[in-house]
Parts: sequence; C-alpha cells; structure tokens
Amino acid sequence: MEVIFKDVSFSYNYKMENEKVALKNINLCFESNLIHGIIGPIGSGKSTMLELMNGISLPTKGEIIIGKYNLNKKNFNFNKFRYDVGLVYQFPEKQFFCNTVGEEVAFAEKIFSPKNKNIKSKVIKVLKMVGLDESYISRSPFSLNGGEKRRVAIASVLISNPKLLIMDEPTIGLDNNSKKRLMRMLKKLKTMYSKTIIIVTHDVDMLYEIVDNVVVLNKGEVVVEGNKLNVFANVELLEKNKAPVPNVVKVEKMIYDKTGIDLGYLPDMNSLVRAIKETKEELEVVSYE
Ligand code: ADP
Ligand code: MG
Repeated sequence: MEVIFKDVSFSYNYKMENEKVALKNINLCFESNLIHGIIGPIGSGKSTMLELMNGISLPTKGEIIIGKYNLNKKNFNFNKFRYDVGLVYQFPEKQFFCNTVGEEVAFAEKIFSPKNKNIKSKVIKVLKMVGLDESYISRSPFSLNGGEKRRVAIASVLISNPKLLIMDEPTIGLDNNSKKRLMRMLKKLKTMYSKTIIIVTHDVDMLYEIVDNVVVLNKGEVVVEGNKLNVFANVELLEKNKAPVPNVVKVEKMIYDKTGIDLGYLPDMNSLVRAIKETKEELEVVSYE
C-alpha cells in the first residue's frame, strides 16, 4: 500500500505563541511492497511523520494519501483504515497483558471480529509469519526471550492483515541474534506476504541490510531520499546532517579514499571482509604475474 505525502507541513501548537514546526513541505512517495527507512537525528521529525501516517495527527498543511484513504477527508473511515495499517510501537511487548501468546495475538481480532470462528487458525498463521510454531500458543508471553516477545507483538498487529506495517525502532533492546532473525522475518513479510514496511530507526547497520529506500530528515525537512545506494553514496551530506551512516559504508568509503578500490555494494560487515580477502588474493595474483 502506497503512502503519499503531498506538500505536508505539521506544527505542534499550531498558530499559538509556542508553535513548533515539526515538518516542512514534505513531498514523498513510499512505494508499495518495499521496505522504507526513515532516519535522522533526534528531533528531526521522524515520530511526527509516523503519527501522521497513522492518522493520530492531521497535517497542518498538505495531504496524506495511503492506498485508497485520504486522511484529510472528513468522511475518512478510521475504523477500516485501522485494519489496513498496522503500527508497531517501540517496546510493543510492554503492552502485553494476556496469560497466553494465543490470547495476546488474538486480542485485536476478538474485539474487531467477535463472530469469527476461525481465530485459532488465524493465530497459527500469523505466528508462522513471524517464525513461531504452534507450540507457542499456550505459553505465557512473559516467559519468552526478547526477540520472541517482539515477534509475538508483531504477530498481534499482523492478525488484522494490514497491508502496511509501520514500525518505530523495531530492533531496540534486542540482542544480535534476535535482530538477525527479526530482519529475516521483515524481508519475508515483504517478499512472501507482499507487505509494505516503513521503519524509523537509529540502527542503520540493521536497516542497510534489509531496506530498499531511505528518507533522511533533518529539522523537519527531507535532506535526501531514494534508493539506499544513492542515499548512502553521499556520506559527507549525511554526516553534515547528523544522520547515522552504516559502518560497512563508512569502512568502504575509507578504503576507497585511501586506495581507490571500489568494493561495490556490500550489505554487511561479513560481506565486506569476504570482499577484502578476495581483492587481496586478486592483487597477489597480479603481483606474481
Ligand atoms: P524525532 O522522532 O525525529 O526525534 P519528533 O517528531 O519527535 O522527532 O519531533 C520533531 C520536533 O517536534 C522536535 O523539535 C520536537 O521537539 C517537537 N515536538 C515533538 N513533540 C512535540 C509536542 N508534543 N509539542 C511540541 N513540540 C513537539
Ligand atoms: Mg522519535
């Protein structure tokens, strides 16, 4: 599901003495069935952008169109919209309150479709989507490890079958293994289940591995946006705007600046190490010849 920002501005305390402009003239299109990242320093407007996408606040100026919904329209059907857009907050597992994973995941479905007789099969399906098997249904959500809890929280959003998944800092507080599993899961949600995913994060190393497009914000404005390779090609611009840069990109740039060797696109540090080894071997062959 596509998300379009048409000349959107947003102010807190609009037209009041203490008006605070949080977003300025934003024109963006988050295309369907891709993973999008939003990055930028603290206070740059990332959370405000998510709140606007989720219909929590309305723009002070401009329009936001999400799939068939125009969020500014008076007759906008918020209840239906809720099904199509799933928001995963920071530390979503803090809001667990059921005794079993099954109840926790089924909760939204029971509220919105109380007549649905197939809740159990739906729960099994969404647990599978997040990589958890049926045995989790009867377990206490509080007994799970951090990564499992996060996946249960995501499953409880997926139960409404949203086409768009919006996530605020999805990897925060997770160990490395859980992060890796979560990243694989997000990729799968895109490729196998055709979800559009928008992620706000400081964790650019994680983001770089899975993201398609990136928007960089600073002081409520878009600094640069587009395909991740183009966005991260300009490290100076990002650093000037206090945006985080993936470690693999920084090291590659350093190698290029010092040696002129361009290692090409590498998604993570392991691939970087492999590429350096291969280049070294090639150079050794050349020096023998
Ligand atoms: P980020 O998520 O990138 O850290 P935010 O969207 O939270 O940024 O904030 C953008 C700007 O709006 C910041 O300058 C922040 O101080 C301001 N802001 C955020 N929330 C409020 C609020 N409730 N009232 C007034 N100003 C706010
Ligand atoms: Mg924020």
